[in-house]
Amino acid sequence: MDAKVTVKGYAKINLGLDVIGKLDNGYHLLRSVMQQIDLYDTVELSHLPERMENKDTYHALTEEALTDNGLQIVLTSDSDAVPLDQSNLAYKAAKLLMEHDSIREGVHIHIIKKIPVAAGLAGGSTDAAAVLMGMNELFGLGHSKDELQELGVKLGADVPFCIMGGSALAEGIGEKLTPIEKMPEMYIVIVKPSIGVSTKYVYENLRLEQVIHPDTEQILAAMQRKDLEEMTELLGNVLESVTIEKYPLIRELKDAMLETGAVGSLMSGSGPTVFGVFDTMENAVEAEKRMRQKYPQVFIQAAGIIR
Ligand code: ATP
Repeated sequence: MDAKVTVKGYAKINLGLDVIGKLDNGYHLLRSVMQQIDLYDTVELSHLPERMENKDTYHALTEEALTDNGLQIVLTSDSDAVPLDQSNLAYKAAKLLMEHDSIREGVHIHIIKKIPVAAGLAGGSTDAAAVLMGMNELFGLGHSKDELQELGVKLGADVPFCIMGGSALAEGIGEKLTPIEKMPEMYIVIVKPSIGVSTKYVYENLRLEQVIHPDTEQILAAMQRKDLEEMTELLGNVLESVTIEKYPLIRELKDAMLETGAVGSLMSGSGPTVFGVFDTMENAVEAEKRMRQKYPQVFIQAAGIIR
């Protein structure tokens, strides 16, 4: 058994996000073109007893965390932006797997946070995915990726994709994944304004009968042809209808991105992150620089895509 396992949890953007219906249990049926980008949290997992000697490491240790149903899960982070309690998706992932596999040993999870929180970049989901994959290795559980994805969807719609990685069409409530083999060369600049958007609010206020649905089939066909221009013309996210109405700054950021030379620009997930698509890394880095001058208070980052 490994003493320590380190997993990168990559952020995702939605190159297309369509909602095509709602189930009786409140879940939404999605058709989403998901893409991982080279911006990641680092999740370190280790067995608890070895690390328990250094009590200082556990400044964030809570009584609650140690006594949850007899499970020993210690959660720490370099960031104070994430909750270090049972509401953390990484914690929930550890608990789910421990219960599923009847693991009685403890685990220490340390999250080095680089992905902006509550951004529409699947930060929590990717940490949860990293925990499932990392604990699978740490405890030698031998689960396949498919099995981890099946477990993961119980934690959130984006978790299965974060386990699969790369590029995929996500359908159902996020559990039905089809890998996208061909993707044009592209570079991304993400801009995360410091407004917090509640995913719950966005879905609750979504009026499906009023939105313009992106043509997911055409987006996929353009990708297949590696036609970046056409792909970016087709970009669409139905959740923009709710988030932009509440926060007009998002439209301003999309326009600013286009002015700095983006081939296309869109909001990711339920927002508020906006991303621009660029044809070369040089253009992306130049746009990152110009956007930082214009919006010095805002998180801005150029990144490649993960294939
Ligand atoms: P998605 O794109 O999947 O909707 P998001 O990027 O919009 O996710 P997160 O960064 O996952 O949003 O944060 C949403 C909320 O989840 C935050 O309010 C945060 O407090 C909570 N949260 C729980 N666990 C985590 C985690 N490991 N990392 C970040 N946020 C977390």
